[in-house]
Amino acid sequence: MIITFLGTSAVNAYPEAFCRCENCTLARKLGGPSLRKRAAVLINDDLLIDLGPDIMTASHMHRRPLTRVRYCLQTHAHADHLDTSHFLSRSPGYGVIGAPRLRFYASHGTMQVVAQLLERDNAPASLFSLEVGENLNLELHRIEALQSLAIGPYQVTTFPANHDPSVDPLLYAVQTEERSIFYGTDTATLPEETWQAFHRCRLQFDVVVLDHTYGPDELGSDHLSARQFIEHVSRMRDEGLLADGARVLATHIAHEGNPVHPELADFAARHGYEVAYDGLVV
Ligand SMILES: [Zn+2]
Ligand SMILES: [Zn+2]
Ligand SMILES: [Zn+2]
Repeated sequence: MIITFLGTSAVNAYPEAFCRCENCTLARKLGGPSLRKRAAVLINDDLLIDLGPDIMTASHMHRRPLTRVRYCLQTHAHADHLDTSHFLSRSPGYGVIGAPRLRFYASHGTMQVVAQLLERDNAPASLFSLEVGENLNLELHRIEALQSLAIGPYQVTTFPANHDPSVDPLLYAVQTEERSIFYGTDTATLPEETWQAFHRCRLQFDVVVLDHTYGPDELGSDHLSARQFIEHVSRMRDEGLLADGARVLATHIAHEGNPVHPELADFAARHGYEVAYDGLVV
C-alpha cells in the first residue's frame, strides 16, 4: 500500500496566508516541507481520503495524477476537507475524458452538506436524484460509524470521531491483505467506542496517521494537541495496536504552537513518531 500525503495542514493551511506570527513567517522563509496544504491522502492511485480544497494543487505539485481515483472516503464536511466543485469538474459537462465513476462514501450528516452545496452551485443533478450517476459521474454510499465494508481491493472500517457532531465525522481503517492503516483526523481524544472497535475488529496498524492540530504547549479543543497525540500513541503501543515497525505520522498541523517542519520533526523524533509533510510517500 502506498500512501501519498497530498496535504498535512489544518483548516488555515500552514503558513496561514494572512498571518504574520513567528511560525508562519519562518515557514514562508524556509519553504519545502514547512509549507502545508489542507489535509488529504491518496492511497495507491485509486483511493482518496477527502475531496479537499487543495487536492488539485497537490496533484500538480507532487506529480500524483488523480485520473485513476475510483473511491473517496470522506471524513466529514468541514471546508478544509471538502470542496464540492470537484464533483462538478469531474462531470461529463466539463469535457473530462476517461475519469472512472467515483464511489463516494460519507456519513448522513456529511452527505446532507454535500447536497446543499451542490444545490447552491446549480449542479446539473441534485445529489439524491437518479440522474446523479450520469450527470456527475458519481455513485453515493451513505455509511455510518462502526461498519466494515469491502471497497474494491480494500477492507474499510469506520469509527466515530470526537469532533463536530453536526457533520457526523468518521475516521477510517483501510486494510489490504498485506497492510493496515488508520487515518484519524479530525478528532479530539478518541472515543472509547473507537478503542473498543479497534480490538473487536482485531486491528493492528502498520501506519497510524493522527490529528496533531496543536503544538506541544497548546491545549487541545475539538482536535488533538502534540501532548495528547503522544498519549494516544503510547496507549496504542500498550494495547498492542501497533504492528512491529509501525510508523506513526502526525497530520492536520496548525500554526498554533507547532514550529516549522525541521523543528517539529526533531520534537517528534524525541517522542517516537514522525511528522508527515506534503508530498511524503509512505
Ligand atoms: Zn480539518
Ligand atoms: Zn501564523
Ligand atoms: Zn473538521
